[in-house]
Amino acid sequence: MRTLQELTRPNIWKLKPYSSARDEYKGATASVFLDANENPYNLPHNRYPDPMQHELKAVLAPIKHVRPEQIFLGNGSDEAIDLLFRAFCEPGTDNVVAIDPTYGMYQVCADVNNVAYRKVLLDEQFQFTADSLLAAADAHTKLIFLCSPNNPTGNDLSHTQIEILLNRFDGLVVVDEAYIDFSSLPSFAGMLDRYPNLIVLQTFSKAWGCAAIRLGMAFASPEIIGILSKIKYPYNVNQLTQQQALDMLSRYEEINEWVQTLKAEREVLMRQVEALPCVLRVFASDANFFLARVDDASRIYTYLVDRGIIVRNRHSVSLCGNCLRITIGNPFENSQLMEALKNYRS
Ligand code: PMP
Repeated sequence: MRTLQELTRPNIWKLKPYSSARDEYKGATASVFLDANENPYNLPHNRYPDPMQHELKAVLAPIKHVRPEQIFLGNGSDEAIDLLFRAFCEPGTDNVVAIDPTYGMYQVCADVNNVAYRKVLLDEQFQFTADSLLAAADAHTKLIFLCSPNNPTGNDLSHTQIEILLNRFDGLVVVDEAYIDFSSLPSFAGMLDRYPNLIVLQTFSKAWGCAAIRLGMAFASPEIIGILSKIKYPYNVNQLTQQQALDMLSRYEEINEWVQTLKAEREVLMRQVEALPCVLRVFASDANFFLARVDDASRIYTYLVDRGIIVRNRHSVSLCGNCLRITIGNPFENSQLMEALKNYRS
């Protein structure tokens, strides 16, 4: 691996971060806070939140089998994705490599940051080889983006190939695990001590049922986390979000039950969809959604919209011609979808 200094933009490596009032004062015994120009009225919303989310990280760490200093928390995992570009990729010079198709925000963040985005097409099984990604990389490739289970294809990527890449790529490998709770494979977060070039992304938006609170996680070496923390907005995770996340973490068992229910519903819904005359193929899924190839994706999409049912039309995405991406809903929502599709005539 190139050194972290070699991988980091020089201005970011040298950056002296903004020091907020709440960063500077860390003691626990004070009761009079006249340091942050807050309003003393309207408790508890008058106070700035903990900029480093210490309490939340302390509770999260054992659940995710990482140390608190290996955690970055942001305004959705989208914040972490953007910060990775801003920390490591020199606009106009550096590039990133990513699988194709995959989650669209990697390319959007690359475009916003004027960083070349090199796509490597997955094979017909929606898998990749480390060799093909390495062949697309050069000395200016700072990041390789993987997503497992992948969006929109729904499948786990080969863990063997991910490990080959981690061993052979001398830059940083990002493994986006937004849907990992629905997979039967383990998280790569357990591999952080083995691979200093690994960054794992997870989110509260999927299995945890908290898309509204905007809370994403990045797990990596303390050095990488230190760089992301240095360039984030000082109070990037608001107090209400931190509190709600703590409440959710105490309801761990309930979340496991949701996941089990959704996985069971996934199998039922996939079988029902597969049996429909307008469906050519349903692809295997390790996520809380699946991809279905139909005879006319745009026509079925519009037909469902007219009935108040929204799925995602992925027809224009690489390898996903005439495919709809269907999220697993609750039994009522799933039955509404099936009823509408059973009445559809090609
Ligand atoms: N990664 C993947 C693979 C996703 O599909 C999504 C959301 N669709 C995200 C990240 C973004 O998650 P968040 O809500 O945490 O920003």
